[in-house]
Amino acid sequence: MNANLNPVELTQELIRFNTVNPPGNEDQICEYLQKILESAGYECRKVEFAPRRTSLVAKIGSCSASKPSICFTGHVDVVPLGARPWRFEPFAGVIDDGKLYGRGSSDMKSGVAAFVVAAIQMAQEAKQGAGVSMIITAGEETGCEGAFHLAASKEIVDFLGPAGCFVVAEPTANEPLLGHKGAYWLRAKTEGVTAHGSMPERGENAFYKLAKAALTLEKFSFDTPPHQLMGQGTLNVGTAKSGLNINSVPDAAEMTLDIRTVAGQSHSHIYGCLCKALGPTVALETIIDIEGVFTPASDPWMEQVFEHCTKMNGVRPVEKTVSYFTDASALKSAIGNPPTVILGPGQPEMAHQTDEFCYVHKIEDATRLFANLISDWQKT
Ligand SMILES: [Zn+2]
Repeated sequence: MNANLNPVELTQELIRFNTVNPPGNEDQICEYLQKILESAGYECRKVEFAPRRTSLVAKIGSCSASKPSICFTGHVDVVPLGARPWRFEPFAGVIDDGKLYGRGSSDMKSGVAAFVVAAIQMAQEAKQGAGVSMIITAGEETGCEGAFHLAASKEIVDFLGPAGCFVVAEPTANEPLLGHKGAYWLRAKTEGVTAHGSMPERGENAFYKLAKAALTLEKFSFDTPPHQLMGQGTLNVGTAKSGLNINSVPDAAEMTLDIRTVAGQSHSHIYGCLCKALGPTVALETIIDIEGVFTPASDPWMEQVFEHCTKMNGVRPVEKTVSYFTDASALKSAIGNPPTVILGPGQPEMAHQTDEFCYVHKIEDATRLFANLISDWQKT
């Protein structure tokens, strides 16, 4: 079966597992992939971050410091369907007019299928060489929980070994992306003293303190230089709340901050700058802390990726980055901070859409491309 494993058929199979997150329930799809990979000679480990929330890691070949692997990652959870009806059943994997329809067809079961099939095709070569490793995660769509859990497990990190290059097969229509921004979400809180609304002088209004802090944030600017491709980081106050009733002085207030950082901006440095700007009346708590990712096109491995993509697409790809974040932020340092490309067969504009589809030929192209990258890597 494995010799003839077809990436389009595998994408259809993967779409038929309902892994809408929440609740996710990625256990069965990972079990299915584990069987396929083990029968091709891959060593696998399953990891649960919560009941039925299973991620899968796999490897073959050296995967060691002297000969690090080429590593692939993809998530198997998908986003909910939305309220609008679909043209084709979203968990059937229907092919119509060269397009494969279904939830996760682009984001990103096609990407997972393409690298799994490429890795199986190249298993013999990889077994003798530097090797291939794979990180197939649960819970990406709700904040990379599966990836963070994996990266924190010494056993899994040791099992995978270091990687020399890293492919994140998110939907990019087979265009290589050099990186993405980071996300740093914070909650800012102030406290006061409550009093009757008719005698506010007896209290201390927490909301006034918060409002002053919000206006400080409106003027806040980052002290790091802008990134050559990503530009400057951004900060937005998304929500604010305070007060329980109209006739009391509120004794607590809070707001949430959505900061999008560019590669090279340290989140701990930003935290320090914010504490200084806001002063001791404002307490900051971290909600999400996902740093940006970037590899320059001049990196020798990235050059190889660009050459393969040029051959495949007929034109040299434009050097670009995206603003959404991926599991790479959570995984990259755990596998030794290798050069990282975001590259997969899905259509980026189809992610999270009604009637999500992926072009069938892009799944086939990506599989060939990944097989070439694996083959090249074994020779270096
Ligand atoms: Zn995705």
